[in-house]
Amino acid sequence: SSIPKIVILGAGYGGVLTSLRLQKELNYNEADVTLVNKHDYHYITTHLHMPAAGTDNPENARVNISKLIDEFKIDFVKSTVVQIRPQDRKVILEDGTLSYDYLIIGLGGEPETFGIPGLGEHAMNIRSINSVRLIREHIEYQFARYKREPHRTDYLTFVVGGAGFTGIEFIGELADRIPELCKQFDVDPSIVKIVNIEAAPTALPGFDPELVEYAMQVLQKKGVTFRIGTAIKECTPDGVIVGEGEEIKSQTVIWTGGVRGNRLIEEAGFETMRGRVKVDEFLRAPGHENVYVLGDNSLVFNPEGRPYPPTAQMAMQQGVNCAHNLVASIRNQPLKKYVFTNKGTVASLGKGEAIGIAFGKKYKGRVAAWLKKAIDIRYLFIIGGIPLVLRKGKFL
Ligand code: FAD
Repeated sequence: SSIPKIVILGAGYGGVLTSLRLQKELNYNEADVTLVNKHDYHYITTHLHMPAAGTDNPENARVNISKLIDEFKIDFVKSTVVQIRPQDRKVILEDGTLSYDYLIIGLGGEPETFGIPGLGEHAMNIRSINSVRLIREHIEYQFARYKREPHRTDYLTFVVGGAGFTGIEFIGELADRIPELCKQFDVDPSIVKIVNIEAAPTALPGFDPELVEYAMQVLQKKGVTFRIGTAIKECTPDGVIVGEGEEIKSQTVIWTGGVRGNRLIEEAGFETMRGRVKVDEFLRAPGHENVYVLGDNSLVFNPEGRPYPPTAQMAMQQGVNCAHNLVASIRNQPLKKYVFTNKGTVASLGKGEAIGIAFGKKYKGRVAAWLKKAIDIRYLFIIGGIPLVLRKGKFL
């Protein structure tokens, strides 16, 4: 009989964990495993707010895939997926075709603009190494421009749409970076504005209110202006229109207000909600026993019937569960159900400041910032062992 072919799309949190587990658990010649990713590196998405603001180097938020996986056990293909064809059990790449017996989809999310006009065209997103390099350079460039046209204060107004975890972590870093840039470019700090706009009635909706209050106080002290309960109606080349038509002039709009699944999944004909597949209890796409969907591409419901927000934490756990089920399938053993176990959530607020809930307790300030570091180091350890911790850990 022929060896089953496993194809993993995306080397994000879900795809990398699946690959690492498969290379450990599969016996020699039990399956052919191929991992496909757009870049030859994995990016540590949960760290991207720092290089975006310029408080860290983008190099510290990426790891070469060849350093993570054993290329004797897993074929790595650097390519972009352009189409998934479940009916033919094929994946079309920009430069070739792969056929599979089992498919794992972990392509990560895309920005959700909720149809707000102009957001797709004029706002930037914190999504990848390429996108954060652009944001970082763009921010510096605004300071340089302002020095040549000092009447253009809109160059120094930075709008961040969304006060979820990504938005809050980013403004924490940006607020730390602004004083440095002011020094570097001889700019009076009082001219610079960071405006965080959130449509929901609170920042960090759904998070512990006492910690949210603390986070807002920390960030306000650093100079952030919050516009909570205010919807962005439109994004233009000159800024944003909010509420009942008020214009906030800005040359920098960073949208963090929503994530959806990957467009390739709906195009493939899978049933989706905002580009995400509501997976079965084993993480498979309904009606497709050989297709697993992970991370930001999947939709998992809690026991009360509400969807869990997609996180790196969940994508990693799903990767482990998915690898287990793939091995079980190949060996004709029973599959294991996926159950999310929340190990806690910590959000950084810039240097030495954070908030979080872990081990059933609330944390804020230095202790929370330390917890955040511990989580990041644990991740490096899981994917790359001690060598990766030593190479990258000191930068976190
Ligand atoms: P991703 O990690 O997004 O990986 C997808 C991969 O697929 C990428 O390598 C990409 O290059 C590749 N890819 C995409 N399209 C293609 C294509 N067409 N062809 C080939 N390859 C492709 N979560 C937490 O749990 N804790 C946090 O503290 C936290 N902080 C965050 C901070 C920020 C700034 C951001 C943006 C997110 C944060 N998250 C956090 C959320 C977390 O990063 C995501 O939920 C997680 O990355 C999802 O993992 P994934 O495996 O689904 O996809």
